[in-house]
Amino acid sequence: MAEFVYRCTECQRTYSREDVRYLCPECGKTYHPGIPLKGVLEAVFDYEAIHAKFNQARPDWNLFCAVEPEFHPPLAVGSTPLTPANKLGAELGLANLWVKNDGLNPSGSLKDRASFLVVAEAMRLGEKRIVAASTGNAASALAAVCASTDREALIFVPEKAPKAKLVQMVLYGARVIPVKGTYDDAFRLSLEYTDQRGGLNRNTAYHPLTIEGKKTAGLEIWAQLGFQVPDAILVSVGDGVIIAGLHKAFVDLQRAGLIDRLPRLICVQAATSDAIHKYIQTGQYEDAENPTTRADSISVSCPSNAHWARRAVLETNGCSILVSDGEILEAQAQMARTTGIFGEPAAATAAAGLVKLQQSPARLSATDCIVILATGHGLKDVEAPLARISIPAAIEPELDAVIE
Ligand SMILES: *Cc1c(COP(=O)(O)O)cnc(C)c1O
Ligand SMILES: [Zn+2]
Repeated sequence: MAEFVYRCTECQRTYSREDVRYLCPECGKTYHPGIPLKGVLEAVFDYEAIHAKFNQARPDWNLFCAVEPEFHPPLAVGSTPLTPANKLGAELGLANLWVKNDGLNPSGSLKDRASFLVVAEAMRLGEKRIVAASTGNAASALAAVCASTDREALIFVPEKAPKAKLVQMVLYGARVIPVKGTYDDAFRLSLEYTDQRGGLNRNTAYHPLTIEGKKTAGLEIWAQLGFQVPDAILVSVGDGVIIAGLHKAFVDLQRAGLIDRLPRLICVQAATSDAIHKYIQTGQYEDAENPTTRADSISVSCPSNAHWARRAVLETNGCSILVSDGEILEAQAQMARTTGIFGEPAAATAAAGLVKLQQSPARLSATDCIVILATGHGLKDVEAPLARISIPAAIEPELDAVIE
């Protein structure tokens, strides 16, 4: 592990990891649930040490990791495949298209990466209980990682979370508290809980290591492309932590002198859950009024990491795009049929963004190296695609019936 300090993304004050846990103690003072987080902390490493020690022939990824390996949970997380998507690329007129298949994580989503690192931190701190609010995936991820250790997961989820995700968390042995309300309600409640009752809070971006955990997806993309920076990465965005994690990955690599440019980060949101998109377009933050999308994992009224997400897009010369639920389900089928990768609606959102972008004047060039980040597995929510497809009717078990 390389040495690091936490630095506030707003006031730039720095803190030792022994002195802070969540937000900047100064900027966080004015935070209250119902607005995007203030004073989100960024881990700033000793980049000279990384530069001196990192060897592409035998990469030691622990150099980029904020928790010592001795505390890492035993569950294998990350190292997901990056698959060439030639058939999908041909349909979109793109010659160098890839899908990073993060649905292949143990609990079926990229959230395992964040949970892995926060549970490692709980091991380091000797915290027995880890608390999270989630639309579903962060909770199943936390439950899975905790199940591989002796730590307890306590989870607040909206009662309307997809069944498969609820089944996962219960089966992994977490204490699950369904909340009559939205994800935003669950978020507030979990903060109140850890404020008063303790435990380590894993809420996305609130705990800075959620960003560090999600960063590993970006580091892997770089290595899997033969240590090349792609031209663009499409990311579906809810709270804005995955996109911040990708940004952090490439910023870390650049600070360590290992790369000399950043990939364009392309934010894709569902049309009704568009707070970050609007913030990028206008510079003015406003909650999404009624974020009712089928892509439940990105349904959020007040995204916790809105400020960093916006910066990730602006600093990488990226862009932002909205897609409708119809376009998401269309892209889900297109990606499944052309790549063999069945992503949940929030994963397909990134693909839908690419389809739409390529029909616009801002389209990416045909030879650009482009990565779609598929963030979650389709089997987590089989109800969603059933809105669009039907399963063929059964036949009599006779060859005549088959031929008909
Ligand atoms: C959480 C999640 C996202 C969005 O990530 P944010 O960090 O909330 O922006 C996208 N896809 C899936 C499958 C997710 O679980
Ligand atoms: Zn600050």
